[in-house]
Amino acid sequence: MPPIRRLPQSLINKIAAGEVVERPASVVKELMENAVDAGATRIDVAVAGGGTEMVRVVDNGCGIPADELPLAVASHATNKLAEADDLFRVSTLGFRGEALASIAEVSRLTLRSRTAESQSGAQLEVVGGQAGEVVPCGCPVGTTVEVQNLFFNTPVRRKFLRSTQTEFGHVGEAFTRIALAAPQVHVTLRHNDREVFELAACDGPLERIARFFGRELAEGLIWVESAEGPVRLSGYVAHPAHSRSHNRMQYFFLNGRCIRDRALQHALGEAYRGLLMTGRYPIALLTLEMPPELVDVNVHPTKLEVRFQDSGRLYSQLLATLRGKFLTTDLTVHVRPAAEGDPSGGHDQTRAAQLRQELVDWAKGKVASWGGPGGGAAESAAGAAFGAGSPFDEEGFGEGRRPLELTQLDRAWRAPEGALAERPDQSSAGPPAVVSATSVDRSARALQVHNRYLVTETAEGVTIIDQHALHERILYEQLRARVASGAVEAQSLLVPEPVDLSPSEAATVLEHRELLGQLGMKIEPFGGDTVLVAGYPAMLANISPVELLHEVLERLLSGGRAPDRGDLLDELLHAIACKAAIKAGDRLTPEEIAALLEQRHLVDDPHHCPHGRPAALVFTREELDRRFKRG
Ligand code: ADP
Ligand code: MG
Repeated sequence: MPPIRRLPQSLINKIAAGEVVERPASVVKELMENAVDAGATRIDVAVAGGGTEMVRVVDNGCGIPADELPLAVASHATNKLAEADDLFRVSTLGFRGEALASIAEVSRLTLRSRTAESQSGAQLEVVGGQAGEVVPCGCPVGTTVEVQNLFFNTPVRRKFLRSTQTEFGHVGEAFTRIALAAPQVHVTLRHNDREVFELAACDGPLERIARFFGRELAEGLIWVESAEGPVRLSGYVAHPAHSRSHNRMQYFFLNGRCIRDRALQHALGEAYRGLLMTGRYPIALLTLEMPPELVDVNVHPTKLEVRFQDSGRLYSQLLATLRGKFLTTDLTVHVRPAAEGDPSGGHDQTRAAQLRQELVDWAKGKVASWGGPGGGAAESAAGAAFGAGSPFDEEGFGEGRRPLELTQLDRAWRAPEGALAERPDQSSAGPPAVVSATSVDRSARALQVHNRYLVTETAEGVTIIDQHALHERILYEQLRARVASGAVEAQSLLVPEPVDLSPSEAATVLEHRELLGQLGMKIEPFGGDTVLVAGYPAMLANISPVELLHEVLERLLSGGRAPDRGDLLDELLHAIACKAAIKAGDRLTPEEIAALLEQRHLVDDPHHCPHGRPAALVFTREELDRRFKRG
C-alpha cells in the first residue's frame, strides 16, 4: 500500500466537481442561482450544443468587485456565509462556495463582472482550474459567466454526456425550475441562437406554468394555501383529470429553492388517493415558506434534498390542506373531456356519422386530393377535435354503429355452399345472387366476412382483400403523394399537447423533428423529457395526435435505424398509415366498402404489400374450377 498523502487541490476540486457538475444542466442551475442570489431582475441564458459546447448566463445583479474575482472561482470561497451559525439560517440559494470553482476545474470559464460603484468591468479566465490574470474589460453592471467545452479535461465524464437534445432537455428542466421559483425575474433561454423562452417578470408563477406546461393545464389548476405556525404552504395542484404516469410534474419550492422530498411527494399521493387511478401521479406546484432555521439545506451537494426539522408536521399540513380543499371543491366542474386523448371522450352518434362520411369522402375524392393541399377530406376533417380517439378504433367507431344488413347477407352467402354442390352447373352463371342485394352498384360489390375480409368478384375470378391492409395502403399512397409534392398539410392544435416521454424517446423524437415536420407532425421541445405536439397531418384529422406520436416513436426506436432518409420516411409513412387505417374487426357500411373497393387496384400491386403480408388473395376461375374438379 502506498502511504497516505494529501490530495492536490486540483484533484480535490475535480472530485468536488463530480458532485456538483454532472452535466451542462448543472452549470445552468448553479449560474442561474448565483444570479438570483445577486439580486438580478433579468437573467439571460444561452447554450450551444445542448450546453456541452457553451453555457452563458448574463445577469444584471450586484456584480463582483474586480479584486474579488479570483476568490469567486476559488473553492470554499463565498460571500453568503460568514460564521458557522450562518449555515443554519441560509437564505440564499448558494452558500458552499463551490460551484464556480468546480465548474472552472472542468471547463474553460470566463467570468466578467462589474459592480454599480465601478467605472469599468473586469474579466478573469480559468482553463481547467488554472486561473489567469484579472484584466479590465467593458461591460454593463452585473455578471456574465461563460462556460465552454465542459469536461474537456475529464474525458470519462464527457463520455457520459448524452445527445444534444437530451442534454438540452435537462437544461430546459433546470431553467424551468428556477423560472418557476423566481417569477419576479425576467428570464430568457436560447439554444444555438434559437430563442426558446422569453419570460417577462410577473407576480406569480401561473403565467409561466401556462408557458411551460400548456394553458389548458394552467387554467384548470386549483389554488391551495394554509399557514401553520411559521410555515406557509401555497400553490397550485391539478384537477384529478390531469395526471401523469410519473411524478416529475410535482414541483416543491422551499424558500425559493426547488427541492425534491419523498415525504412531501407521498403526502401529495395520499391527498389524491381515490381520485386517481393506480399508476397515475398528481401534478402540483407548491411553495413552502418558513424561517431558514427550520430546515437544513446542507445535506446534499446540489441542495436538491433538504432536511426539515419537523417533517411529520409538514406532511400533515400538506395532506390536510389538500384534502380540505378537495372536500369543498366540486371537482366535476373542471373536468375537460378528452384532455389526454381519451378515445371515448366526447363521442356521439353525430360525430360517428360525420367521421364515417369523411372516410367515404376521402376514398372517393382521393384523386382530386392527391395533387396538393385543398382537396379531399383534408379540409372537411380539419378542425376535428384532437383528443378524440381514432374514429376507426373499436371504442370510438365500432360501438354505436348500427349492425348492417351484412348479417343477413352472411346467411344467404353460406346457403349456396350446399346448393352449389347440388346444382353445380348454376354456379357458372355468375356470382351468388345475394351479393347484388346490397345497395352498392355492381362494380363495387363485395361481401365483408368476419369483419375483416372483403370478398369480391372480378372478371378473372374472386379476390379476397384484407380490409385493414387495403385501407392502410390507400392512406400510405395518399400520404406519400403529398409528401412527394411537399404538400402535407399540418393541422395545428389550438392547444399544443404536452407528451411525457422517456429521455431517449424525447431525444429521438427531437432528433427527427424536421423529418416528422415533413410528414405534417409538428413537434416542439418543451423542457425535460416532455415534448409538445403542436400539429399533425391534416388528412388524418381523425386520429389522436398523441397516439400517432407514440406509434411513430415505436418505429423510430425499433431495431436498426433505416440507413437513409428516404427509407426512414417510408417507414414512418407506413406507421402512420397503419395507425390511422381501419382495423380487422371493424364492421363497414356498404358505402365504406364501396369507397374502399374503388381503390382496390392498390392491393393488387405485388411490390407494395404492407409488412410483407399479402393484402389480397386472388382465386382465378381456372383455379376454382380445378379445385371443384370441373376442369
Ligand atoms: P456560492 O454561490 O455557494 O457562494 P459560487 O461558487 O457559486 O458559491 O460563487 C462564489 C461567489 O462568487 C459567490 O459567493 C458570490 O459572491 C460570487 N458570485 C458568483 N456568481 C455571481 C453573480 N452572478 N453575481 C454576483 N456574484 C456572484
Ligand atoms: Mg453558487
